Amino acid sequence: MQKKIYVANWKMNGTSKEIDDYMEMLSPHLFLETVILGLPFPYLDKAHKLLSPSLHLAAQDLSENSKGAYTGSVSGGMLKDIGCAYVIIGHSERRKDFFENNAKIAQKLLRAFENNLIPILCIGETAGQDVKRVINDQLEDLMGILSEREFMIAYEPVWAIGTGKVPTAEEISEVARFIHDWLNEFEITDIPLLYGGSVTPENISSLKTCDHISGFLIGGASLKAESFIRMIRA
Ligand code: PEP
Repeated sequence: MQKKIYVANWKMNGTSKEIDDYMEMLSPHLFLETVILGLPFPYLDKAHKLLSPSLHLAAQDLSENSKGAYTGSVSGGMLKDIGCAYVIIGHSERRKDFFENNAKIAQKLLRAFENNLIPILCIGETAGQDVKRVINDQLEDLMGILSEREFMIAYEPVWAIGTGKVPTAEEISEVARFIHDWLNEFEITDIPLLYGGSVTPENISSLKTCDHISGFLIGGASLKAESFIRMIRA
């Protein structure tokens, strides 16, 4: 059986002290699952130095460019250099607030692959949108890039992110099955599919029963180490 995957997405939260405390709480645990910490850029280097063998680091974004005159941007090479193994790409907050479209996301995926970073590609519909059509639109332009690469997909209904609203396990299973079959048509198999959107210690046990779901991308409930550990152990 595939190991379950738990990705913490801290977004723009935390302080240096909070990262120290978090790493101190998590590091003694020997996780059999894949546990990935998506921390803000300024803390990745420090977290890497505190990382135990059970933990992995993700950046929450990367530049679509490799290097040069892009003030404020962070490249895939820099992320690899400081010990990141994964990078979240296309989170709905980046799509919405930073106007990231498929063309930009495609460039970001390429930069990730060039630097041996494993992308965690986020997809999902906003309230009222046709889920299957959105997933089709978000994936089809990227298939040429994704085929024969190592990556993960995080299915995150945008209306479920940070709202406390969660689809039923049946609804998530249906979308997960759709994504799974969709990828299969392009002969892309064995891609871990994560669910994200208001996952908590209280609801994670039922979400673990979803078909084709290999793990979770967790925002708010991952900020406290005890809560994150509870979800991994649930
Ligand atoms: C997220 O940040 O992608 C997310 C799913 O957040 P939350 O768990 O807070 O809904």
